[in-house]
Amino acid sequence: MEFIDVSRFIPDAPKSRMPAFTELADMNPVMLTHDLGIADIKGNKERIQELADSGLALIPVRRTPPPMMGGRAPDGSFPDRFVIEPTNFCNAKCRMCPHVVMTRSKQHMDMGMFRKIIDEMDENGLKELLLLHFGEPLLHPNIFDMIDYVDSKSNLGVVFFSTNGIMLDEDKIHRLLSSRLTYVQISLQAIDKESYARIAPNVPFEKVMANLERLIELKQGLLGKKPFFRLQIVGQPANMHTVDEFLARYGAKCDIISVNKLEYKDSIQFIKSRDVCPGRRTRKSCIKVERLDCFIHAGGAVVMCDHAYNGELTIGDASRKTLREIWNGSERADLIAANKDGSIWDKYPVCRDCDGYDVG
Ligand code: SF4
Repeated sequence: MEFIDVSRFIPDAPKSRMPAFTELADMNPVMLTHDLGIADIKGNKERIQELADSGLALIPVRRTPPPMMGGRAPDGSFPDRFVIEPTNFCNAKCRMCPHVVMTRSKQHMDMGMFRKIIDEMDENGLKELLLLHFGEPLLHPNIFDMIDYVDSKSNLGVVFFSTNGIMLDEDKIHRLLSSRLTYVQISLQAIDKESYARIAPNVPFEKVMANLERLIELKQGLLGKKPFFRLQIVGQPANMHTVDEFLARYGAKCDIISVNKLEYKDSIQFIKSRDVCPGRRTRKSCIKVERLDCFIHAGGAVVMCDHAYNGELTIGDASRKTLREIWNGSERADLIAANKDGSIWDKYPVCRDCDGYDVG
């Protein structure tokens, strides 16, 4: 769930109280555009004013999907959104992340392949591109060449970059903030040393927090301008007691702040949300197969689902074929057919015990 400082929209808002996360989570969000403007939806402006008048310092928001770039009609013949994994090396060991049990080989994405897939994405036009997956992007030795290459394109839509903050330094922060990225994110696991150590024992807590403070310092005066700074924490039992303080401490210091849902639990078990969300729909089909997005692993595997972190649902190899060929090829067609007739659970072992079929 995302939140934004109300004074971004109502500069003279009283901001007399910082709401608790549970209170915000129960409220209907204000709809924003993909670039954090007020969405042109009836009653939206009035709702922000109403929330501001009630004294709230932070308000819950939801971003509407970005438009398709490049003039392409969203006809399903090419993905609308890609997640690229620049590297699957990571310098953290977060206990809820499948990275700690991932068995595929560790590698950095080849620059030649990266340029090839970015060229094809730009030719086709996208809504959104994410430069992150199972690894810390700043570990790629050419990550800023990758960002520069992405910056040179016009049709990639909203471009999102995320880091765990360990490797940030003065130079990297300046380079990120002077790029044409749409969002630069730091993903935290906690805001106190003890909780951090429980979730990600090898992360140098003081270093991450100092890097965060420096980025915040350099971003002040530039809030509301791209690249937007998004700060997130992955809400989980070991840190939920600190979430209110997280929002109070940083809500006004970033463009958008988020408390994310825990998607992976104990590394390999998918969250059993059905236990806590009795309203979930029954398991008839999986939304991940129906969506117009996919994931490109560092080695080039084009994969249909982020839960298939070892590449189990690979539909092709981006180093051998074009993305359009892969997207319209037989492997994806088979998966779609199995999802339609309900045989996906038997046919694909990774789907058999997966409970993430309706987790967006
Ligand atoms: S059932 Fe699970 S593993 Fe299979 S495609 Fe859906 S989310 Fe992915």
